This record gives sequence, structure tokens and C-alpha cells, in this order.
Amino acid sequence: MGGEIIDPGEEIREIFGRIKHHLLCNRDMGLEPPRLSRSSSDYLEAVPPRIDSLQALRNYIGECRRCRLYQGRTNLVFGEGSPRADLVFVGEGPGREEDQEGMPFVGEAGRLLTRIIKAMGLERKEVYICNVVKCRPPKNRDPEEDEIDACLPFLKKQIALLRPRVICTLGRIAAQALLGKKFQITMERGKWYTLDGIPLMPTYHPAYLLRNPSAKRQVWEDVKKVIKHMGLEVRNHGSSE
Ligand code: SF4
Repeated sequence: MGGEIIDPGEEIREIFGRIKHHLLCNRDMGLEPPRLSRSSSDYLEAVPPRIDSLQALRNYIGECRRCRLYQGRTNLVFGEGSPRADLVFVGEGPGREEDQEGMPFVGEAGRLLTRIIKAMGLERKEVYICNVVKCRPPKNRDPEEDEIDACLPFLKKQIALLRPRVICTLGRIAAQALLGKKFQITMERGKWYTLDGIPLMPTYHPAYLLRNPSAKRQVWEDVKKVIKHMGLEVRNHGSSE
């Protein structure tokens, strides 16, 4: 009779096993992993449709090692807030205090964000706050393109699960990640965009406001548009000062 019958499933597992072994050897030698296009990365990293809650997504992410940022983290910072939030803030990535506590926006910039939220007439626990990358970049550098590509499917799934009425991005990195790499924060903030049908308002990052207090006025103008869109009442104008 003919030769050995090869199970196709077994063969595919064998091929992927060899590729994985090759990549792990490269990593052990200090070589960078191959760079994937945004579309390839999206395809490979897409979160399975069966993930139908924020908790299920957090479980799915697990102790993620999909990019090099896992190496320096103390805690993965998934996000926090109400799963029924009408408003989602998206920042760039965890800083030192966020990494230590495992919570987003808990440092000085976070305290400023909390004051902005209160000035909008909301409590922090009523909104949802998360970042583009979930692990702290070393020395608070900007996340690199491949790190953003690796982590972005998690953020997109968070937004898809939350389906907020408004997204407010904080800073250039968050706007670029969600709206496109050419986004120029100084020129293009303060206007409405849409992400999958959800209105999106880009504004400056609170950390930028700490360095440039004069930009608070522009942020307040941006935030007022969100307040108006959501039909909120300003609780304390200018209390973000
Ligand atoms: S930054 Fe995102 S993709 Fe990279 S290791 Fe952390 S959770 Fe995973």
C-alpha cells in the first residue's frame, strides 16, 4: 500500500512548532522579532469573538508577552472604571506609579485628569480610563510602533465591549493609534472624529498640561464640546486648574 498518511492538523502543528522554535532562538540571541504590517498584526492578534466581557478580555490577555514591554512591567494596567461608561478616556501607556499600582492615571497627571472629570460633572468611577499600551515603556519613553500594533487589538476590543457614547483621546500617541499615524495633535485636536461610529474628541494629555499649564484653556475648550455632546452640566468651571 502507499506511504505514511500524514494528518494535516499534525503537520500544521509541526510547522508552527518549528517557526516558534526559530523565533525563540532568535530572541535568545537578542534579535528583534520580525515586524508585521498593521493589517497582518491585526489579523494575527485579533481578539477572538467569544470574548464578550471586560473580565473575559482581561483573562484572555493574561500575563501577556506579545511585545517586549512585558519585560519591564511590575503590573499590567488593563484599565478601570464603569463597564457601562458613556465616556472613555484613552491615554498612552502606564507611567511609574501606574505600573506600581496596576491602575491607569494614578500619578500627578492622573490627579489632574480626575479634576477634569469632576469639572465635567462626572465622577471618575462613572467613566472608563485605559491606555494604548498596557505595560509601562522603559523610562516612560513613547511606545514604539510594533508595541502599539501588538497591544492595539486589546484597546479596540475594550472599546467594542464598552460601546461608549464618546471617546476622548489624551495626547498624540492615543490619537495616532486610533485615528492614524499622521495625526498632528497641535493642529488637529479639538475637532470631532469617529471611530467605528463612536464620536471621538482628541485633546492634550494631562502630563503635557503639567509641563504647559497655558494649554489647559485649550483642553477645557475641547472638553466643553464633550460636555455639550453628552448633555452634561458643568459642575465647577475651571476646577481642573
Ligand atoms: S504592552 Fe500590550 S502587547 Fe505588550 S506585553 Fe503588555 S499587554 Fe502585551
